[in-house]
Amino acid sequence: MSDLNKLTITQAAAGLRAKEFSSAELTRACLDQIEASEHRLHAFINVFPEVALSAAEKIDAALAKGDELSPLAGIPYAAKDNFCTENLLTTAGSRILKDYLPPYESTTTARLKSVGAILVGKTNLDEFAMGGSTENSAFYPTKNPRDESRVPGGSSGGSAAAVASDEVIYALGTDTGGSVRQPASFCGVVGLKPTYGRTSRYGVMAMASSLDTISHLTKTVADSAIVLQTIAGRDDHDSTTGNIALDNYAEEIKKPVTGLRLGMPPEYFEAEGMDPQVKAVILSAVKKVEALTGTAVTPVKLSAPDYALACYYLIMPSEVSSNLSRYDGVKYGLSVPGSDLFDTYLKSRGQGLGAEVKRRIILGTYALSHGYYDAYYKKACAVRSLIKRDFEQAFEQVDLILSPVSPTVAFKIGEKSNDPLQMYLADIFTIPMSLAGVPAISVPCGVVAGLPVGLQIIGRWFDEKTVLRLAHHFEQSKN
Ligand code: GLN
Repeated sequence: MSDLNKLTITQAAAGLRAKEFSSAELTRACLDQIEASEHRLHAFINVFPEVALSAAEKIDAALAKGDELSPLAGIPYAAKDNFCTENLLTTAGSRILKDYLPPYESTTTARLKSVGAILVGKTNLDEFAMGGSTENSAFYPTKNPRDESRVPGGSSGGSAAAVASDEVIYALGTDTGGSVRQPASFCGVVGLKPTYGRTSRYGVMAMASSLDTISHLTKTVADSAIVLQTIAGRDDHDSTTGNIALDNYAEEIKKPVTGLRLGMPPEYFEAEGMDPQVKAVILSAVKKVEALTGTAVTPVKLSAPDYALACYYLIMPSEVSSNLSRYDGVKYGLSVPGSDLFDTYLKSRGQGLGAEVKRRIILGTYALSHGYYDAYYKKACAVRSLIKRDFEQAFEQVDLILSPVSPTVAFKIGEKSNDPLQMYLADIFTIPMSLAGVPAISVPCGVVAGLPVGLQIIGRWFDEKTVLRLAHHFEQSKN
């Protein structure tokens, strides 16, 4: 069977059980695809062929014995390079961690390993996940497989590009302000950000801890449900994970969607920089959703998304400035010896961290400093509560909210890299959900000039099942 790397999780799991091919063959197909396209795409920072093939052979042996295995067993995936993987290079896209070998494994990759998932490599990202285009990687930018002159989005751009180009069957990412949903939209794949607290952050390089959400990218919504089933749930290593029972996502998505109440925030369509063609694609997707549910979309009141953007760009850098203080040239990572300890800090951080990371550390340190804390950080936290309340009120009237993922399709490499404000605007529709902590998915809904556009479906806290259900029916209705 050829093109095994093009299969979905569902198809690959069935093929493995029917003995149509082995996990080693499937893994080899992905590694071949990586070899064929990496020199153009640069989706990966490191690939581990021997580790992957030897894990695959173990699964083949278990399958041959007839063991009952997880649907993810034997299936190759990639993890964003901010997930710690024991004794496998983990760089976070930064020079400061260029040669870092973690002594332990993140909860998410550990859970995947325990069910026999095959990690083939670690994907490129904006340094420490700060960015929306993957151009802030210390190593190289990743290209969008749908148009190589364009960015794949970010910061999980390597993961999105790897899935979109069939280098792997699915991939892990992190979404702090949109970093899985926006690249999913730009590359035409499915990206789910679960509820904050549904997935464990343990062992993932912290960016902004109150927002960081372990998320994933897949080719289909049914695959997204399968991955969520394995990675979600309480973890004693991350006290922010909720002890809330998981649903049977693969079953839930099949239930009918008729009667679901849908909302849409009119303010979002008035936002600065909203491309009229993207808007038209989203509005026609909304019509299709209405036909599926048999209900009309009603307007819901969410604050204008620019408030969320301003609030995010205070809270996020404040947490960044605190979280990144651990990279000091002493404990681990790059160390550039200075004349004294302070000089060592300055030289190591000065040479090890990139411009965007430094910008955020400076912004955050300022916002938290004595005399400005009340005016900036505390005020932003109050605005965050109001944004959360908007969602609480909206979800009294509707079950799901529909919105664009990004105001534009994938932009050109270099187009926004010298203009941070323009870059920040690319996340204007994903940041409110991150501040509120609600689950949201990006599902492909059309194209503008050949480039993919994603529809965002947003749900109540811990109600991933309804988000996935509508997304699944929408995806199926297009085929
Ligand atoms: N693009 C946003 C930022 O630069 C989101 C990043 C993320 O979700 N990791 O902060």
